[in-house]
Amino acid sequence: LVSRDKQPTDTIVAVDDLHIGNGEQQFVMGPCSVESFEQVDQVAEVVKKQGVRILRGGAFKPRTSPYDFQGLGEEGLKILRDVGDRHGLKVVSEITHPNDIALGEKYLDIIQIGARNMQNFDLLKEAGKANVPIILKRGLAATINEFLNAAEYIVSQGNPNIILCERGIRTYETATRNTLDITAVPVLKRETHLPVMVDVTHSTGRRDLLLPAAKAALAIGADGIMAEVHPDPAVALSDSQQQMDIPTFEHFIQNLRQPSLLTHD
Ligand code: PEP
Ligand code: MN
Repeated sequence: LVSRDKQPTDTIVAVDDLHIGNGEQQFVMGPCSVESFEQVDQVAEVVKKQGVRILRGGAFKPRTSPYDFQGLGEEGLKILRDVGDRHGLKVVSEITHPNDIALGEKYLDIIQIGARNMQNFDLLKEAGKANVPIILKRGLAATINEFLNAAEYIVSQGNPNIILCERGIRTYETATRNTLDITAVPVLKRETHLPVMVDVTHSTGRRDLLLPAAKAALAIGADGIMAEVHPDPAVALSDSQQQMDIPTFEHFIQNLRQPSLLTHD
């Protein structure tokens, strides 16, 4: 069902009047984790001002260590929803358990399935029954074929509204957190009709690479960019090394919007 052979025209995922796919590019910006109302509200205000329409923030955090901040859970989803409504932004957050897909439908405009859960088949099947679009992230070491099969799990249950997200894969290289597989974008767009976005934060893990990586992603045909923004990254409860502070975000988004993608500063 996700194959280009089955559907030659691009799928455009819609949330009310917001579209993603077939030339309509969207930015998904916000903190790694929802930490408090004030923290999310501060970010929402600036992203809205820069014309971004989708706010992100993690409430169920799949952390590598069990001793790290695990997220605010449902309370975090509530905060994100409230802030989104206050600023007229659509909201997306990750759901990690099949039983919580219903919470996602209640509070979110888009449900994210994270890299670590790309092959959590029970979660994929529940997401396939949900009435909201899904951002499906590529697994840490998933091939394109495995990624597309994960999307197939969702679509086969009845939910055709999927945005694929390349977020870097595990390689031998240690200079970046993961290796951004930039050619995954055109490969996926040839194989499937689904929109494809690129998460520059988790792929590079490096603030100095966010802007060039995002430019490359847009130049190669991505339908959107995800990146993390925090009012004070140094004190962030997760991903403090790679979130942008507010001035850095403003510089990032303004540079991405310049007509020539190829000028750097
Ligand atoms: C995230 O986007 O919050 C996240 C945890 O990303 P990933 O699943 O790609 O690691
Ligand atoms: Mn993060």
